[in-house]
Amino acid sequence: MIDLSAVRQDSPACENLVHFNNAGCALSPVCVTDAVIRHLKLEQEIGGYEAAAAEARQLSRFYSAFAELLNCEAEEIAYQENATRAWHAAFHAIDLRPGDQVITGDMEYASNYLDLIHLAKRLQLEVSVIPSDSQGLIDLDALRQAISGRTRLITLTHVASQRGDIQPALEVGQIAKEHGLYYLLDACQSVGQIDLDVKKLQCDFLSGTGRKYLRGPRGTGFLYARSEIMNQLRPAVIDLHAASWNSADEYALQPDATRFENWERNTANVIGLTKAVDYALGLGLDNIAERVSHLAKLLNSKLSNTDRITVHERSDALSGIVTFNKADENAVALQKRLQENKINTSVSSQRNARLDIAISIGMDVNRASVHYYNNEAEIERFIDVIAGS
Ligand SMILES: *Cc1c(COP(=O)(O)O)cnc(C)c1O
Repeated sequence: MIDLSAVRQDSPACENLVHFNNAGCALSPVCVTDAVIRHLKLEQEIGGYEAAAAEARQLSRFYSAFAELLNCEAEEIAYQENATRAWHAAFHAIDLRPGDQVITGDMEYASNYLDLIHLAKRLQLEVSVIPSDSQGLIDLDALRQAISGRTRLITLTHVASQRGDIQPALEVGQIAKEHGLYYLLDACQSVGQIDLDVKKLQCDFLSGTGRKYLRGPRGTGFLYARSEIMNQLRPAVIDLHAASWNSADEYALQPDATRFENWERNTANVIGLTKAVDYALGLGLDNIAERVSHLAKLLNSKLSNTDRITVHERSDALSGIVTFNKADENAVALQKRLQENKINTSVSSQRNARLDIAISIGMDVNRASVHYYNNEAEIERFIDVIAGS
């Protein structure tokens, strides 16, 4: 059980506003922000390199904290500036050749899909998009049927930015494994709200960001890459941190996932994200998942019972993201009205979901995303504002 008053005290903004934009950027706990500020001050006092050396233990905790979170080894974790870069690093490290087929879903994150078709045009890859079923979940039969002798990779977004259904990532992992395919899972919206186990998921790569459900600082992310395939993976770009320079024209890639990193980073933010992971581990991912799911179900059912509101999630596998439209108020106007009432939400634009809501809904949608520190009273207030106009 989560001590709600303690976690709300750790998130002082809860006093002043209703933050239902956790899928955009969650509120960091005080300990995270304090750790970032403390490190910046230390840099000011003793110098940047010297501060990093002084905090070496906390900086190496980054890898073991993520290993604990994802049930993997510290050597399988790379620090990344954001989830998009993490996904790019994994995708471009796979030895794809002209004619290879890559399979993805219609809810794939825009930046992943854009990069996918970008490389596909250059390499003449075949990109197959598997439609979602009537529940909004990737159609597993269609996925099985799409696999051919040329398929090399399946990419899946675990929870879409514009859709709150939790995709059947375990089942997709099983299919990828059966066919000997690489499996790249975008866990940007699921990490920090769902207990993720890369062994059960059977993924080769998992990418994520710091600022969303993990509650870390902005401008942080991570990549998991499975050690058994590390030697097959050639990062698209390397620097003096990803590889060692052995002689004039000889170099060796790092044996571990740090081959995907680059040298310079915002050290204070690495420390902040590490703190955020430890904070989540302290609460327990199963406790977090249970509370987020409870709040999401409540929000979904209250919204569904509100006049002129259509909720778009149709499956039973609900994450903290709830998307909806109001019949007579466009998404941007409604978001603005909510903000004027001190309720933070966001809008998912159809422009960034060309395969998904641009087709199935045909307009931008409102997105309310709850975290464990939200409460039932906030949901009531949100519904009151939504219902009024
Ligand atoms: C936000 C998001 C991303 C991108 O994360 P960044 O850290 O902004 O690069 C990727 N995938 C999904 C599903 C997202 O919601």
